[in-house]
Amino acid sequence: MVGQEKFQGTVVKAYGKFFAVALDDSERILLSTPKGALKRDRRGTDLVAVGDRVTVIDVGDNEGRIEHIAPRKNVLARLARHTRDVEQILVANPDQAVFVFSVRDPEPHPRMLDRFLVLAESRQLHARVVVNKHDLDAPGAQDPFAAHRAIYPFHDISVKSATGLEGLRDALHGQVSVVAGPSGVGKSSLINRLVPDLDQATALISDATGKGKHTTTAAQLFRLDPKSFIADTPGIRALALQGVAPEELPACFPEFRTYLNSCRFSDCTHVHEPGCAIREAVAAGLISEVRHASYVSLRQGLDDDQDRL
Ligand code: GDP
Ligand code: ZN
Repeated sequence: MVGQEKFQGTVVKAYGKFFAVALDDSERILLSTPKGALKRDRRGTDLVAVGDRVTVIDVGDNEGRIEHIAPRKNVLARLARHTRDVEQILVANPDQAVFVFSVRDPEPHPRMLDRFLVLAESRQLHARVVVNKHDLDAPGAQDPFAAHRAIYPFHDISVKSATGLEGLRDALHGQVSVVAGPSGVGKSSLINRLVPDLDQATALISDATGKGKHTTTAAQLFRLDPKSFIADTPGIRALALQGVAPEELPACFPEFRTYLNSCRFSDCTHVHEPGCAIREAVAAGLISEVRHASYVSLRQGLDDDQDRL
């Protein structure tokens, strides 16, 4: 029947009740609404979210009806402030997180990187780090991320002089990557550089803006190539350590893991206890002092939060 063809696609943007769905096997985007019966299936979470894999029926006029939403592999979500049991999804089905910093303008911020890395670890997301603006390198400058390079994959790039971008592109291929970082480091410039026809994609999608309210905290997915998406997620910073229990924090530092069962006390916090295998590893130079100091600071923040509950 005309206008009843089914397609697989990915939700790339939400506008109130409307969702822009990028079809797998074409450049087309269908502005779609979920069919009524789906509304019964999901409670306590968003019915449809950016990143959802869906089946849509083309109803003509570049509009679609969402017939099926695939179960989510995982989500980046926050609990809504007043209704604690309802989650608000920033991105569904992310594969990896890409944290962007710059050599300077603004200055690198290793502590902020550690917070982001904990967020990724606590959600079982692979993390990689981009350091942009290498065209501004000062000779002899110390590397503020030296400790992190032993633990996570790094991409040293300059969007301005177009260096390091091919390796990064390879690392993004076939993935849904969530981008985050402080403002001014060059995230938009990077996305502009990586996404072919960004203006065209944005124009296609913004045709829909008249049709519903655009929620600014929600993510938008940009298609890098048919199988790869990159998500700009303004809300991710606010997520911070939400939902991370103090005792879960040590395992969010991958280089701590081999030592975790060797402390004298089974409830060791690895902050001040004698016989702490983590602190011994720091003293022996096996764990970086900078990372341990970050851990202590985050741990104290979490413990304070717990005390207030
Ligand atoms: P965002 O806030 O992270 O999205 O950062 P923007 O993409 O808006 O970039 C912030 C500023 O940094 C802009 O003035 C860009 O032109 C500049 N910028 C981006 N990438 C580079 C780079 O590789 N080198 C230099 N020198 N400047 C850059
Ligand atoms: Zn310990």
